[in-house]
Amino acid sequence: MAKLLEGKVIAAALKEEIIKKIQASGKKLQLASVQVGENPSSEVYIKSQKKNAEALGIEYAFHKLEATLTQEKLIEYIETLNSDPKVNGMILQMPLPAHIDYKKISEHIAPGKDVEGMHPVNIGKIIFGRAKALPCTAAAVMELIKFTGIDLNGKEVVIVGHSEIVGKPLALLMLDKFATVTVCHIGTSKAGKLEEHVRKAEVLVVAVGKAGLIKGEWVKDGAIVVDVGINRVGDKLVGDVEFEEAEKRASWITPVPGGVGPLTVVMLMRNLVECAS
Ligand code: NAD
Repeated sequence: MAKLLEGKVIAAALKEEIIKKIQASGKKLQLASVQVGENPSSEVYIKSQKKNAEALGIEYAFHKLEATLTQEKLIEYIETLNSDPKVNGMILQMPLPAHIDYKKISEHIAPGKDVEGMHPVNIGKIIFGRAKALPCTAAAVMELIKFTGIDLNGKEVVIVGHSEIVGKPLALLMLDKFATVTVCHIGTSKAGKLEEHVRKAEVLVVAVGKAGLIKGEWVKDGAIVVDVGINRVGDKLVGDVEFEEAEKRASWITPVPGGVGPLTVVMLMRNLVECAS
């Protein structure tokens, strides 16, 4: 039976480290959070970011802008925050109104203030192992795996999902640890090859958003399973992996909720501290 890989346990230790770093720097840090328009779906994330920031002694400066703001005006606003020395990092809340192109806008956030680690400059630095701020979910997965004590060198890692925020950066971070990395996606499923790849995984990370996509019986004995997926089924939240069956085979498995989620916001704060250093 697998041990539970719980994000909140690891988060507590990481928060201690962050507090020590902030105290050692003697700086007062500020995270600017920019929301355009009313987005009820992002309220829960904003609340969690504010709570986590304040618990670490970080000022959470919330900037609520009109939904009708033009793209040009938003760029100007971001550039003002870029040049404000009080602001150490900036996060753009999603979703943005339809007339705003996220990719275009996010490139205007100064790379040194990009706490989400998604600016092309920061993504590019991952290739060279020099990124200060890593994409938060990918970084959270790496912390969970580190906690198990496994040495990734030479291990068969299978990542299901190749999104820009999870699968792609995670593959690069895993390569840096000398893991043998296979990245699966919709094309793999359409070719009927998903099961074959998943069965060989010593470390399996799934980030798709489809409940029950990964059958528990596909999980290799002793595998580490990190389920990033979040799906609402009835009144419950579940991941992408059939938990009960997978738990019987894996050595470690993340619960959903309570696995990756609680660590993601802590990675945001760690990125802020790195940006400020
Ligand atoms: P996305 O929609 O950007 O990407 C989905 C990926 O899944 C793509 O690579 C796609 O090719 C692949 N895919 C789709 N159907 C597939 C199939 N049948 N077989 C194999 N691969 C398939 O998703 P995302 O933004 O990376 O999010 C993925 C999931 O992770 C979602 O459930 C999301 O809510 C969750 N998520 C959780 C956190 C967290 O902090 N816990 C953070 C980010 C995302």
